[in-house]
Amino acid sequence: MIAVSTSPNKGAAMLEIIIGIAMAIMRRCAGQLPQKEWRFSVAIFRLFGLLLILFPVISYAAQHGVVVLQYHHVGDDTPRVTSVTAQELEAHFAFLQENDFNVVSLADAQQLVAQDKVPDKTVAITFDDSWRNIYSNGRAVFEKYRYPFTIFVNPHLMEETPRLYMSWQQLNALTEFGATIANHSEYHAHMTWREEGETETQWLARQQQAIVQAQAKIDAELGSAQAKYFAYPFGEYNPELAALLKELGYLAFGQHSGPWSRYVPQTEIPRFPASGHYANLTTLKTKLLSLALPARRVAPTSMVQSSDTERLTIELQVEPSDDVQWQQLGCFYQGERLQPELDGERLTLSIDGLPVGRSRVNCTAPSKQLQGRFYWYSVPLVRPDAAGRWPD
Ligand SMILES: [Zn+2]
Repeated sequence: MIAVSTSPNKGAAMLEIIIGIAMAIMRRCAGQLPQKEWRFSVAIFRLFGLLLILFPVISYAAQHGVVVLQYHHVGDDTPRVTSVTAQELEAHFAFLQENDFNVVSLADAQQLVAQDKVPDKTVAITFDDSWRNIYSNGRAVFEKYRYPFTIFVNPHLMEETPRLYMSWQQLNALTEFGATIANHSEYHAHMTWREEGETETQWLARQQQAIVQAQAKIDAELGSAQAKYFAYPFGEYNPELAALLKELGYLAFGQHSGPWSRYVPQTEIPRFPASGHYANLTTLKTKLLSLALPARRVAPTSMVQSSDTERLTIELQVEPSDDVQWQQLGCFYQGERLQPELDGERLTLSIDGLPVGRSRVNCTAPSKQLQGRFYWYSVPLVRPDAAGRWPD
């Protein structure tokens, strides 16, 4: 359930009790209440006085979500922006263990989110691209901690350049330490891009083939049908691609940040990058402890904008919550602080100077109940150039 207090019901019951006690006192004053009944009334009064003191604490409930971490390379000789060293990976896992985080598989996360019963400090771990260094440098860490994790693979790339990627044998070996092997498409292409002269139907059929073919190889190499989890290459998708994945029965993961809760569409699941400068535990800690902002994106409907878009209005529908400190909501874009406007359940943000390529808006708001904890929500965006393309 949402973090709204159940105070209307509790409040009404409390009011009834208070009125009852007040009436008893009045009757006592009028000499109508026997001594024994009077003592009972005082005891009840004390009990509910105590409940009233506790009342503000139990009326706030934070909205927990699953924090999904996203890694790529494990090593010190790969691009820093998409790498953690083996030492950093070990430090992250040690931190999760020492601080009693509940590390779950995507299957368990899916169930917890579906039931809206995500316990506090629940984390899932994912790796994209099946780099060979995940095996060579990460294996000892996986073996030591035995945390469940998921590796999203591109079968065609594995076949094409085997020296860079794990073999199926290595992937199979990692399942012994808790790995789930999942789909990152056959080719790691910009999936929303259309080829010259391609119709929408042809484009969507090509994407379906890239998804289905990859899954067929994964299932064959792992020896059985695997759960359907998909990570969009570069975190890029549009409503048509998301609808296709939903139709094919997948949960699909992006690269925008925020916890995974019931507010999130099942084909737009956010993940927090944990590589490069995001590997720093001081900043990663805030994300590991983040809460799910009760918000849904209304506009724009697609992360992909038209090439001439410079200004954009983002509209979110938010649900009331007495734990979110809405007045302290901070939204940022390209290092600039935005001016969010909250009108009832409608939150609007205007951004200016949309650059060509991927970008994202991040919003955070403090929790009232949980000191130092923040609600988090992110909106992924991409602006193509005049030719409908953008850099990796
Ligand atoms: Zn990737």
